[in-house]
Amino acid sequence: MNARTEIMVGPLASHAEALEEVAKGEPLFLVTDPHVWSLQGELVADLVDVVPHFVPRGEDAKSWQHLQALIGDLAAANHPRSRPIVALGGGSVGDLTGFAASIYRRGCPVIHIPTTLLAQVDSAVGGKTAIDAEGEKNLVGSFHLPAMVLADPAFLATLDRRQMRAGLAEVIKYGAIADPDFFAWVGAHGEAILSADANACTRAATHCIAAKQAIVESDLYDLGGKRALLNFGHTFGHAIESVAGLGKVLHGEAVAIGMMLATRLSERLGIAEPGSIELMADMLGRTGLPSRLSDAGLGGRGEELLPYMLRDKKNRDARVMLILLKRIGEAFATDEIEAETLASFLRDAG
Ligand code: NAD
Ligand code: ZN
Repeated sequence: MNARTEIMVGPLASHAEALEEVAKGEPLFLVTDPHVWSLQGELVADLVDVVPHFVPRGEDAKSWQHLQALIGDLAAANHPRSRPIVALGGGSVGDLTGFAASIYRRGCPVIHIPTTLLAQVDSAVGGKTAIDAEGEKNLVGSFHLPAMVLADPAFLATLDRRQMRAGLAEVIKYGAIADPDFFAWVGAHGEAILSADANACTRAATHCIAAKQAIVESDLYDLGGKRALLNFGHTFGHAIESVAGLGKVLHGEAVAIGMMLATRLSERLGIAEPGSIELMADMLGRTGLPSRLSDAGLGGRGEELLPYMLRDKKNRDARVMLILLKRIGEAFATDEIEAETLASFLRDAG
């Protein structure tokens, strides 16, 4: 596990030297998907020699099969454990590559070059890695901090609007859990971010990365400290992803619906300030993000989320660990919510 991550937000070309330094005159082993490679590979290949290893696009990459293929290629190349592996792509490429890097020869460094908004503002930092297994999101994974993260907003120029929106959901999350001013800023600049405006995206990434780093430093292994707050919208969201079928609903879309559900539950329990629902609904509405289960094709199927949300999936007396809101801009973690309370909320969730 590396202790520190070198993080840079801005044009990749200005970090050419850093890449050359780690490459040491040999091509870098780079994991990517064919779509990202065809659109954005040059931006990297112009700066440093790379040997690409391809994985499928999106969530499909996060599987045993593609982990095995990646490890196989590393072994075939006799990749030494001191040499970094580079992940060029979205959160899926990053999660798979980070996991492979954490176990290959007991761990080698990973460098993230995130190419989606979601990966730039969130998933590339913090060291959580995973693949999906047994139909469950992120069932198998590890903590493995990257040695370096190079986030260049220029990559976002080719990302479609649906993917940009999904990334924006995580940006909204950072405002909702801890920073009402940032939440308001996102409301005013959502359109600029969605249009991949370099200034707006740089500001969003810089803010979210700094917020995540501060949280991660205080609770790297997610052991009951502040890191849990980053799961706002995610306990619902991961369940939505699983019930809809992994890869059908984008992670950020599921998180958006999850944030709305968590806000509604917070108000229903009398915890959140009145008006929080309207603020969240307005934000999701104006940025075009989904907010209802029916938006994910799960109308009337709320209760199916329950087994995925319970800590002990076989026991309906179990409690649920959830991140709820006191107000927009202040979240807290609770494990006091009873399964029955949640079940009745989900039944009514529409
Ligand atoms: P993704 O990686 O699943 O898919 C991105 C899609 O966009 C792919 O089809 C890819 O080909 C395409 N793409 C990527 N960059 C592009 C570009 N610049 N131009 C055009 N197309 C491009 O999407 P994502 O939202 O980045 O990642 C989602 C994954 O990240 C989920 O599996 C989620 O669980 C994970 N995640 C991990 C963490 C973490 O802390 N490790 C945090 C949040 C999310
Ligand atoms: Zn997320």
